[in-house]
Amino acid sequence: MHVPLIIIGGGLSGLAAGLRFARFLPDVLILEKHSRLGGLNSYYYRNNRLFETGLHAITNFAEPKDKKAPLNRLLRQLKIKRKELDLHEQNRSEIHFLNQESLLFSNDFTLFCNEISEKFPNSFAGFNELLNIIDEYDPFAPRDFISARTIILEKLHDQLLTDMLLCPLMYYGSSIENDMDFGQFVIMFRAIFQEGMFRPGGTIKDLLDLLTNHYQTHGGKLRTKAGVKRIIKDGKKAVAVELEDGEQIQCDFLLSTIGSDETFNLLDTPSPIKDMPRLGFVETIFELSPETKLNKNGNNTIIFFNNGTTFNYAKPTDRVDFNSGVICMPQNFQNLDVRPYKEVRTTHLANYDEWKSLSHDKALYTAAKDETAAASLPVAEKILGNFGKNIVYRDTFTPLTIERFTTKKHGAIYGNPIKIKNGDIGYTNLFLAGTDQGFLGIVGSMLSGVSIVNQHILPRI
Ligand SMILES: Cc1cc2nc3c(=O)[nH]c(=O)nc-3n(C[C@H](O)[C@H](O)[C@H](O)COP(=O)(O)OP(=O)(O)OC[C@H]3O[C@@H](n4cnc5c(N)ncnc54)[C@H](O)[C@@H]3O)c2cc1C
Repeated sequence: MHVPLIIIGGGLSGLAAGLRFARFLPDVLILEKHSRLGGLNSYYYRNNRLFETGLHAITNFAEPKDKKAPLNRLLRQLKIKRKELDLHEQNRSEIHFLNQESLLFSNDFTLFCNEISEKFPNSFAGFNELLNIIDEYDPFAPRDFISARTIILEKLHDQLLTDMLLCPLMYYGSSIENDMDFGQFVIMFRAIFQEGMFRPGGTIKDLLDLLTNHYQTHGGKLRTKAGVKRIIKDGKKAVAVELEDGEQIQCDFLLSTIGSDETFNLLDTPSPIKDMPRLGFVETIFELSPETKLNKNGNNTIIFFNNGTTFNYAKPTDRVDFNSGVICMPQNFQNLDVRPYKEVRTTHLANYDEWKSLSHDKALYTAAKDETAAASLPVAEKILGNFGKNIVYRDTFTPLTIERFTTKKHGAIYGNPIKIKNGDIGYTNLFLAGTDQGFLGIVGSMLSGVSIVNQHILPRI
């Protein structure tokens, strides 16, 4: 079998790349190892209902008139109409540093500016200077790493406010410990604070089905349970892939969305990229009875919190660092139909090696997951008020869960800290898109798939 383009991975970057290509030429094949599409952003069934794996909120909300906004550009490139997505904006979110300060933000950026002006008056002039830099900065221009933390602190002269600004942006888009590249900071600042957050009215399955339907309507082909075992190369050209069942499929172009090290693995070539610590996360979903009313902050969509004296976004030495994290309440979006369930989701930084050391013993691993959920509950209750007695179902995932279902090295959601922004990994017809290309999150990974196809593949067909 021969196809012009093979895409390895049926996550959001692979689906978007496939759809973009199929609009011009239908002969594209997505190969997905798992039985279901979506990758990090997929779903599963438990307790008689569908659970989403990776959808807290989608960043980059934009009004239809804002033609240049990333969301609208993405929809245009994919020829998807906004109304097909049924967008629901967040209520409002919060950065909550316990016993220190709290900042509210919503899709109206003035709320955030007012909060900073009121609570950090001495830093407000510096914050405005930072906004000017952000407005003028081109985050896509090739540059070496520039420390966002250094620039922010220089402008704000306030450690607490610096940490508070970085907390959501790191949790939603940094693969680097305790800092981020200034370009990535600019992308995330615009995506979260200036544009804002939303979710589709249905579930992530509806969004995946929508993308798949568009893709297949254009003639794109899709195979699940089709893991690629190796990439067959001829010098610096990828000529075919071999699937786990031994079938070989030839191609003119190959796009890998599975990560850089993971791709070099399939090429049977040592990765030239320096190995750096990867960040892992645990998440617990607490399903609550529908009548539950949370006492405090219960109407917020997302709460990024820190309980420690300093904010430490780094691989913890213990299994989990409960000092900081994200609390998400996925029912808290505007005009969302009343859902037959309520959820609180808590996310914390986790240490992959500590979890891996339990993998030989299912009972120990399960007990560690239970302990994690039990320890995370009071952390969330401190912020939301008590809800433990309303829990009707609970599930926890760890870096091992992510590794198992997406094959991401060390289960690191944000992948390799070193990104390959132009998608070029040294082969003439093999390119990288998705997490390790550097655009993170749902909109980011889809834009990554589209832009690598636009840049490297469409001009050559
Ligand atoms: C708990 C959690 C919460 C999140 N919350 C949000 C959020 O609220 N908002 C947001 O914007 N983003 C969120 N994200 C991040 C977002 O989900 C990801 O950035 C995005 O989905 C990455 O997509 P991707 O296509 O680049 O990678 P992936 O989703 O990892 O897709 C890669 C695919 O390749 C497949 N694959 C791997 N190896 C092979 C192989 N050898 N052969 C064939 N297929 C293979 C994998 O199974 C996978 O399906 C969250 C992620 C998680 C895990």
